[in-house]
Amino acid sequence: MLNILLFGPPGAGKGTQSEKLIARYNLVHLSTGDIFRANIKGATELGILAKSYMDKGQLVPDEVTIRMLESEVNKNPNAKGFIFDGFPRTQAQAEALDNLLKSKSVSITLMLALEVEEEELRKRLLLRGKDSGRPDDQNPDVIQKRIDVYNNETSPVKHFYTSQGKYKGINGIGEIEEIFNLLCVEIDSAK
Ligand code: ADP
Repeated sequence: MLNILLFGPPGAGKGTQSEKLIARYNLVHLSTGDIFRANIKGATELGILAKSYMDKGQLVPDEVTIRMLESEVNKNPNAKGFIFDGFPRTQAQAEALDNLLKSKSVSITLMLALEVEEEELRKRLLLRGKDSGRPDDQNPDVIQKRIDVYNNETSPVKHFYTSQGKYKGINGIGEIEEIFNLLCVEIDSAK
């Protein structure tokens, strides 16, 4: 099983690259942000709860996020593998994911981290906010909050995978196709 973690700050290009990777490797794409947004659209209880955090640029609480992710993984028993996009974002989420995969006798193959500096992220997110309709991309204070949360809570998750020898940093600046090729080279050599 090929289980890829696509990691990186908000606006690094995880969603764009995930779309290309699932097509090439026939994987199931689990984006926690997308799942929350679908729940917001459907006005589910989970969506209403998630929205109250997302609109402020805060993380949705671990307990809620982990339960949701587990149920999404369990919905795909025949998957050839997964791309986890936007998860794990905390140490507790990383540990929960490890335990879940262990219980199925599988593991994470590789963490691919898209590296993009902050100034570029702020530019990309504001640009995306112009037509994405995402409220969290339209407010500079919320964007900064998300970058700060990434630096303080999410970025340290790298160490968890570095210590397992699974971390690979990838330059996230350049042409989409060029970055995609860099990701594929890493995946092909880890398979
Ligand atoms: P981006 O990476 O551009 O910020 P996402 O779609 O991945 O966009 O996430 C949007 C928001 O959804 C986050 O700011 C956060 O509030 C919430 N969210 C997504 N994934 C998680 C997660 N794993 N844990 C907690 N909150 C999450």
